[in-house]
Amino acid sequence: QNIPVITIDGPSGAGKGTISRILAEKLGWHLLDSGAIYRVLALAALHHDFDADDEESLVALASNLDVKFEVEEEKSLTHIILEGEDVTMSIRAEAVGNMASKIAALPRVREALLRRQRAFKELPGLVADGRDMGTVVFKDAAAKVYLTASAEERARRRYEQLLEKGFTAKIDQLIAEIQERDERDTNRSVAPLQAAEGSLFVDSTDLSINEVVEQILEFAHGKL
Ligand code: C5P
Repeated sequence: QNIPVITIDGPSGAGKGTISRILAEKLGWHLLDSGAIYRVLALAALHHDFDADDEESLVALASNLDVKFEVEEEKSLTHIILEGEDVTMSIRAEAVGNMASKIAALPRVREALLRRQRAFKELPGLVADGRDMGTVVFKDAAAKVYLTASAEERARRRYEQLLEKGFTAKIDQLIAEIQERDERDTNRSVAPLQAAEGSLFVDSTDLSINEVVEQILEFAHGKL
């Protein structure tokens, strides 16, 4: 049962989501957006009015979370269904991301989500996107990538995305938020954001999406 896994870890806004989706499509592999799992849990916690440090309730919620990932083949879009409700869009809200980042610092919550994440590892292969894919969840992955970009560039990309969706935003505030979230993700005691041993380090600040994809495919081909 040798199922190949490529892990893509890095800070928010580095382009992991886009890159992972393209890689999974090109290879015909499954895709795990682990951040979405933390976001779904965060949304459910907000619905229940749980505090971000109420570990007991959050662990129980994580263990019983009724979430389904439904892949729309032609459109290569994954619908995320929480308790029967399509939350694909609502989990992307800034408030949900912030809550996700807070509850992701709780060790027992992370533990409770491990099995759910590992279940995505199926033939013919998996591209897993997150913060600890190569360091914790898929430690034995064949090819590990650490994808990053400067905080300014990540804020700029986020800004463009928000404008496209019809939101307004202040670039300085986005940079501050990104730095704050980086800080929290990097300094937490359990599964902190860090490059896995032996990973390919890619700084996408001055690279096109295509250039990043090509670099990773070349690296992965040498490993698989
Ligand atoms: O990647 P995304 O922004 O969707 O992730 C939301 C939050 O979930 C992150 O800020 C991070 O704190 C947490 N997360 C995590 N481990 C992962 C994926 C996401 O701690 N593997």
